[in-house]
Amino acid sequence: MADYSGNASLSSDFLGHFFVLRTVIGVDIRYPYLVYILFPIAMGITAFINLRLVNDAIESLVKSKNQMTEWNRSLEEMVKQRTKELEESNNKLEAISNTDGLTGIGNRRYFDNALATEWSHAQRTSSNLALIIADVDCFKNYNDIYGHPAGDECLRLVAKAFQDNARRESHLVARYGGEEFAVVLPVLAADQAILFAEIMIRKIRELALPHSGSPFGCVTISLGVAVVTPKPDQKVEDLLKAADAALYLAKNKGRNQYVLWDIE
Ligand code: GH3
Ligand code: MG
Ligand code: MG
Repeated sequence: MADYSGNASLSSDFLGHFFVLRTVIGVDIRYPYLVYILFPIAMGITAFINLRLVNDAIESLVKSKNQMTEWNRSLEEMVKQRTKELEESNNKLEAISNTDGLTGIGNRRYFDNALATEWSHAQRTSSNLALIIADVDCFKNYNDIYGHPAGDECLRLVAKAFQDNARRESHLVARYGGEEFAVVLPVLAADQAILFAEIMIRKIRELALPHSGSPFGCVTISLGVAVVTPKPDQKVEDLLKAADAALYLAKNKGRNQYVLWDIE
């Protein structure tokens, strides 16, 4: 055994002999010194490996985060799109449920809601509200003579005439039922409602739809007009009754005319 005497203790000398890299690099390096060299190298390698691992982990975390953000964005986009589609469907459904299938104008449901809204507005603001109910004269005869499909076409034309005359946004036109139409008009005075009724009588006559079962020889309408400044104790039914009574009177007076009902 070679003599490696020095300052180190006997046991470290003994261990040093086992760990010398003498045959590798040709120099005797005792174990303690070897540790001094190898330990930082091992630590460095470990740190390097750890760093790489941490780096990889961070990179994959960032990638995952980006992926999640991307998924989130496309999910949000999808939800937004679906919400928009749902809103559109709802609007379409709402429009369909408010539209009369035959004439394409507002139906009774639309009319009831519109009248209720206008009534409470007029009541709140103490403003005038007019209601016109129009009825095609001798329409049963029209169906009997010209047939039901022709009757339907006649109703379509009458409805269009009403709709065309309701130029202002606040003029609400609806098919009230069968061959009856209703118009709700917030007005300044009764004159405006009367003017609307007069124009409608003329417009329907101008359609010049032959009606041999009518004393007028063509399709005509009768109208009941009622105007009111709703008082707090009044009900919307009062306005409806007044317009209906006015229409009844117009029929009794000979048709093809309007009657204004004095609700007071
Ligand atoms: P008046 O001048 O008193 O109003 O007489 P009228 O014949 O118009 O009134 P009546 O209530 O006797 O008849 C109304 C007719 O309207 C009977 C019904 O068949 C017809 N009618 C109601 N709805 C429709 C519809 O959607 N299409 C057609 N073609 N006819 C309808
Ligand atoms: Mg009728
Ligand atoms: Mg009628």
